[in-house]
Amino acid sequence: MIDILFARARQGYRTIGYPKEPPAMPELFQGLPVVRQELCRAGCAKCADICPTGAITVPAHIKNPELLLFETSDGADGGDDKLSLDMGRCIFCGECEKACGGKAIEFTKEYRLAASSREALKLTGETYEKAKALDEKALRVFGRSLKLRQVSAGGCNACEADVNVLNTVVFDLGRFGIQFAASPRHADGLLITGPVTKNMELALRKTWDAVPEPKIVIAVGACAINGGPYIGHGETRNGIPSWLKVDLYIPGCPPHPITILDGLLRLLNKLEE
Ligand code: SF4
Ligand code: SF4
Repeated sequence: MIDILFARARQGYRTIGYPKEPPAMPELFQGLPVVRQELCRAGCAKCADICPTGAITVPAHIKNPELLLFETSDGADGGDDKLSLDMGRCIFCGECEKACGGKAIEFTKEYRLAASSREALKLTGETYEKAKALDEKALRVFGRSLKLRQVSAGGCNACEADVNVLNTVVFDLGRFGIQFAASPRHADGLLITGPVTKNMELALRKTWDAVPEPKIVIAVGACAINGGPYIGHGETRNGIPSWLKVDLYIPGCPPHPITILDGLLRLLNKLEE
């Protein structure tokens, strides 16, 4: 026992300084992508062609510049007229950036990726709208103490691991009043990972029904948001089904623990910026 106490004393204070201090992100971290349509080359759609999850849309008038000859008042191709990258689908593999090679798509070290709506995750080069706090009524209920039930709905376990690590001394999630509950009956909401396999949908429904009102839903990872690498697979629901309203989307595959923590703190209005 005494050895354990000495070892613990030697370790000192291990909790990171975030959010008071900026976090140290790993060198290989791929954060918020920047989309610059003005740098697209005419006739190119390499990024969209290489993307494994269909996250990128290249407008037809860039893919095929001849379409501009037939431009109408409602747009050159009658469809999407902007280069877009859907962070809800993105698994941050970086292949589009490499395929482009011209900086029309570039990943940054920006870790603040959580959003309040599915639409906000679709990047077109505008300023990224970060997640907003819950409304005042919800903050009165959840702001000081939020208990979440985690549901792993068929993911690969990486998102779950990055959520789990928030409970360690390094991140110390409990210091913000956020904890995980062993039973949905003791929870204020669900934190869902995985693409929601058909086998898990009933369990997810029952878990949701067991959480008392009012309650919230947090989607963590590309799978939960839109199916991730399993998108289109016949055994999954391509993410959280429409019968659940999501309050916070945290993209990534998996999202870095700091990205998850930042999203949770934004939701509870615990960040100064
Ligand atoms: S980084 Fe995202 S958008 Fe780019 S190719 Fe990979 S999954 Fe597609
Ligand atoms: S989003 Fe990626 S890391 Fe998370 S469960 Fe799905 S495949 Fe795994």
